[in-house]
Amino acid sequence: MAKVLIVGAGGVGSVVAHKCAQVPEVFEEITLASRTVSKCEAIAKTLPRPIATAQVDADNVPETVKLLQAKRPDLVINVALPYQDLPLMDACLEAGVDYLDTANYEPPDEAKFEYKWQWAYHDRYAKAGLMALLGSGFDPGVTSVFVTYIQKHFIPHIEEIDIIDCNAGNHGQPFATNFNPEINIREVTAKGRYWQQGEWIETNPLSLNHPFTMPHNLGTLNVYLMYHEELESLAKHIPGLKRARFWMSFSDNYLKHLEVLGNVGMTRIDPVNFNGVDIVPLQFLKALLPDPASLGPLTKGKTCIGCQVRGKDANGQPKTVYVYNICDHEECYHEVSSQAISYTTGVPAMIGAKMMLTNQWRGKGVFNMEQFDPDPFMADLNRYGLPWQVIEGEVFTPR
Ligand code: NDP
Repeated sequence: MAKVLIVGAGGVGSVVAHKCAQVPEVFEEITLASRTVSKCEAIAKTLPRPIATAQVDADNVPETVKLLQAKRPDLVINVALPYQDLPLMDACLEAGVDYLDTANYEPPDEAKFEYKWQWAYHDRYAKAGLMALLGSGFDPGVTSVFVTYIQKHFIPHIEEIDIIDCNAGNHGQPFATNFNPEINIREVTAKGRYWQQGEWIETNPLSLNHPFTMPHNLGTLNVYLMYHEELESLAKHIPGLKRARFWMSFSDNYLKHLEVLGNVGMTRIDPVNFNGVDIVPLQFLKALLPDPASLGPLTKGKTCIGCQVRGKDANGQPKTVYVYNICDHEECYHEVSSQAISYTTGVPAMIGAKMMLTNQWRGKGVFNMEQFDPDPFMADLNRYGLPWQVIEGEVFTPR
């Protein structure tokens, strides 16, 4: 039985609060804290049992430490924005509390995400006897667990990984992002990057794509090569890895809007002076776009996210395995009032927290998902709403 503090009351925070509330045997006491406390209170009203709420500016370390000292949680689940990762890790260190997040740190003034800032906390966390689990969402998160599951049960010698993230859903809006628009557009407009033969190969944004036919007759979508943070931790933790790539589907309509917005400067992250006021165009755009949480009742269709892994089996024979989850936007909304993108992130955040709080995943220091036994996590995915399946053989053959 444990106490948790969830920080961030957006689309993902709402799902984490719902899923933790559904597992009272682990999450005995829950506090949901965010910058705007009214959002926490609105979520709390929709939950199956009472939780506490609090106001916190997670960029302010002393303020967060004060809240941690008052609430004395066993774990902080950070589902605010990537900018808050380092101040929240500092606050956890100071208050002696374990830490979990779903996205790695990004400096606000540079669209660049890397683990180096958070990995630099390893020795301090280890010395304090604390644990930090990084990237416990779907991608990053479940994707690393799928890879280690394939490594443990099918392909001990992994050579190639292709992570394929498809959203075959439709929200009917002319242009909207499925999670925080600022973070989403920074990620999508960044240069692509993949790991090959021990080095990073850079590509122009969205310049490589390939059709992917999803299982269960979900159709064929174009998936685009992007950089994604789990590539960095997988390249570090999977010995012998020759290539790792990440692909994501985008509709032609989404790409058309994004291109125009980029061309007119609306995706810029540097301040522009307008009538004496400094405005960051992307932050202004975020204020205009639909709140991702509002897409819940509008989104229909399914997501399909999985990993295809190639390598050698225990007998040294070539083998390819694909493990994937299909998630239905409307079913998610029916269960927790959120669409599948928030759901597929929030459920693994709850499961990662459960792994830590029940000591099934335990260590001192800073860890990524692929450093632990995948089996209990995979069992909980089936149990808590993200069932997965295995296909032995090739499903994706990009050039
Ligand atoms: P939202 O923008 O919907 O929610 C973010 C929440 O964080 C808001 O409630 C916001 O408060 C709060 N917040 C922002 N700054 C602060 C601060 N300084 N102090 C306290 N609270 C703050 O984002 P999402 O829910 O869509 O995404 C949450 C996280 O999940 C992001 O880090 C995102 O990158 C990650 N993610 C991970 C995925 C994965 O698979 N691994 C996939 C999708 C998302 P306010 O309401 O006041 O603005």
